Amino acid sequence: MDKWRSNESIFGVGGKKGKSTEHLRDAEIALQQGKPSMAQEHLRKAMKADPTNLDALMLQASISSAPTLPALRAIEKTGRKALLETLGPDAFDDDGESVGHYWGLIETRPYIRVLTALRETCAMQNKWAEAVKWAVECLRLCPNDNLGVREYLPLYLIYQKRYLEALSFIMNWIDDEESPERGGIDFQGKSASDYDPTLSGTSGARLRKNIEGGFDSFNIYNGARAAFELYGDCEMSRCFLRTAAKINPYILRRIVGRADIPDDFCRHPRTVDGIDAAIDYLYVGQRSWYTNEKVLDWMNNDRVTSKITRLLCSNPPCGKREATACSYQACSKCKEVVYCSRNCQVSSNVHFGSPQAPTPRRCFLQVAHWKLPGDEGHKKKCKAVVDYQKQMETYSTTPGRAPNQMGDPPSGFPTNLLLDAMKAMGGGGI
Ligand SMILES: [Zn+2]
Ligand SMILES: [Zn+2]
Repeated sequence: MDKWRSNESIFGVGGKKGKSTEHLRDAEIALQQGKPSMAQEHLRKAMKADPTNLDALMLQASISSAPTLPALRAIEKTGRKALLETLGPDAFDDDGESVGHYWGLIETRPYIRVLTALRETCAMQNKWAEAVKWAVECLRLCPNDNLGVREYLPLYLIYQKRYLEALSFIMNWIDDEESPERGGIDFQGKSASDYDPTLSGTSGARLRKNIEGGFDSFNIYNGARAAFELYGDCEMSRCFLRTAAKINPYILRRIVGRADIPDDFCRHPRTVDGIDAAIDYLYVGQRSWYTNEKVLDWMNNDRVTSKITRLLCSNPPCGKREATACSYQACSKCKEVVYCSRNCQVSSNVHFGSPQAPTPRRCFLQVAHWKLPGDEGHKKKCKAVVDYQKQMETYSTTPGRAPNQMGDPPSGFPTNLLLDAMKAMGGGGI
């Protein structure tokens, strides 16, 4: 496990300065070179120089396998104690000076990384109640949620069938141009009648506008699920579902098609609501959709979303639509173009350059994420990949653009698949 988890893979900064961190860096390099015992040696020195170097403790706990929950809980205690000393005795008090401002206090960042690891590890082990606890703590300390916790908290609640709390949390975030107070964590104590599933009147119209304008597809999906569980097929649940399908169709198609569940997060730089975001959502959330067949029937039969989940055969003269999502075989190269039959695949040459070719983002990320075996012909010829590459170069040379956002790997980002893929394609422009 690396420390650059979650949004820390984009923004991760802050840590101890001095000797301890120098040893930690040596340990990280040793690990990258496949020398774990040398890494251990450096880590011992790092901890001797500073026993509260949380990044070093985390690395040590994860050197041979994923860190255990007891190990992470112990590191959290160490971190909490250390912060009580650096920030003062009110470091964790709601009415103290620090709570709500942790994001700006750079010395708190290793501690936040520990909370993030705890949250994700709990989720991996289906310990949803504890995952909620750490997610809520992250939001309490950093209510603007620069950490991207709000994308996952409703899922943890949904796994526990806490649909009303999930919806309430989503509403806290959706119905606000600014971040909600206290990171929206005051989601308890609502009743289902506090919301109007018919979306009528002025407040209904406003909610519809907020849902349709929502750019966080994860919680639009989670909103659809929670609203359906609470109110069934209604204006509100349909509005969530159709918006979600529009923003990130990859998620819906894979859920209803019961596609394979990804086996890890997609740990390379974000594109907004592309396949990489879908992978992250599906990794944590896909199985949550399979606990209620009625939800799947509902999504499958919705007249708007069924057009999105069931693709047309990519051989233009054929154009037959799938009867159920993911039933046609996808092209093994980009996994996006689908054919109803071997016949259509052979007689079609839509794969490169035609309007039916995969979108640039999609096709490129397929190459990056799944590390397809060196099919140079595909990588070179595919216009989509070339266009995407150009687009990335434009991003990284736009003056005044903040560094480390959308596309740029963070400094020190380990074994970057994106860069590997760029190099493989003869690029490397970022
Ligand atoms: Zn066909
Ligand atoms: Zn392609």
